[in-house]
Amino acid sequence: MKEKAKNIFSVFKWGDLIILLILIVSLALAIYYFAKPQEGGTVEIYLDGKLYRSVSLNQDTEIDINGHNKVKIEGGEVYMLYSDCDGGDCLKMGKISKEGGMIVCLPNRVVVKIVSGDLDAIT
Ligand SMILES: [Zn+2]
Repeated sequence: MKEKAKNIFSVFKWGDLIILLILIVSLALAIYYFAKPQEGGTVEIYLDGKLYRSVSLNQDTEIDINGHNKVKIEGGEVYMLYSDCDGGDCLKMGKISKEGGMIVCLPNRVVVKIVSGDLDAIT
């Protein structure tokens, strides 16, 4: 009887350990998935309604769009650095840094927007 009780106890211990392991693994996965879009994000640049370039938000760079517009990504923020359009409204739109943020240059038909997800594979 005593040994049986001990066995049940050890089974419970195993069960606890497995539950704990599952909890740790799912917590780690949750952190991994939730943390990633926050630090990541992808900048998509559309020209004439077609995807012209997509660049990681974490990558500081300047992107020239057919010599008419220049988009700058710096410190996780995106803004229109240069534009030859009339009025320069896109230049006044300021910086975007969050998912869903958008800069539009209507005269040059350029759209810059931030989408979720990291860009690792595509360059
Ligand atoms: Zn413009």
